[in-house]
Amino acid sequence: AGTVVLAATPIGNVGDASARLVALLERADIVAAEDTRRLYDLANRLGVHVGGKVIAYHDHNERNKADGLLDSVEEGATVLVVSDAGMPTINDPGLAIVRRAIERGLPVTCAPGPSAVLDALALSGLPTDRFCYEGFVPRKHAERMQRLRSLRAEQRTMVFYETPHRIAETMPDLLGEFGPDRRMALCRELTKDYEQIRRGTIAQIKQSVDDDPPRGEIVLVIEGASDDEARDSAPSALSVEDLAVLSI
Ligand code: SAM
Repeated sequence: AGTVVLAATPIGNVGDASARLVALLERADIVAAEDTRRLYDLANRLGVHVGGKVIAYHDHNERNKADGLLDSVEEGATVLVVSDAGMPTINDPGLAIVRRAIERGLPVTCAPGPSAVLDALALSGLPTDRFCYEGFVPRKHAERMQRLRSLRAEQRTMVFYETPHRIAETMPDLLGEFGPDRRMALCRELTKDYEQIRRGTIAQIKQSVDDDPPRGEIVLVIEGASDDEARDSAPSALSVEDLAVLSI
């Protein structure tokens, strides 16, 4: 059989394309791309000729297309899976083909590279030894509050994706749920010319967003709860005193 290869693509700086990505673009039999126009654009900027057949593989068709692509893998093809930017499957298409490949016992591997999660986490200055990735901050206010509330006692560093037109609505909710004093980093336009990392407390970053609304792509990295905060806000944790009362 051939192989499915997930390959990361640059998140802004074309120089981050790996040698392996370039070789795969040239040699893969099939390239399954989130947006074929963007794939050709990347190939042009890299000066690469895409040798194989290119097909659109996105959120809306990935479940339907996975098995057909895997039939080709079974016949010996190398299928390269790329998204518009960063690592496939991370808030991007790819999971469906990985799952089906595992179920069908077909080889799947990865040519790793840029992803905004790790870039932002590493630059945040916050603890990196334990972290959780939360994807996009929910768009609707009620869902956003519910998600943030469920994370109040989370002690790991939290990483969220956010969009520039919602950040001004999100900051007051972060402040409301996590309080003003936790540290955070607002990372925008990573790897690009206008890369900027704003670091401070939640209250300071809220002020900064009000004073100077950030444009471009954004990742938020937020300090986890302290031991005290986790104890005070854990939704269902019973204290020693509670347990003593219950056992009477
Ligand atoms: N698969 C991608 C990855 O591995 O990072 C993520 C794709 S997701 C649809 C796009 C979101 O990732 C953006 O809205 C932004 O939150 C984040 N992102 C991607 N590139 C970024 C960059 N250069 N700077 C900051 N955030 C970025």
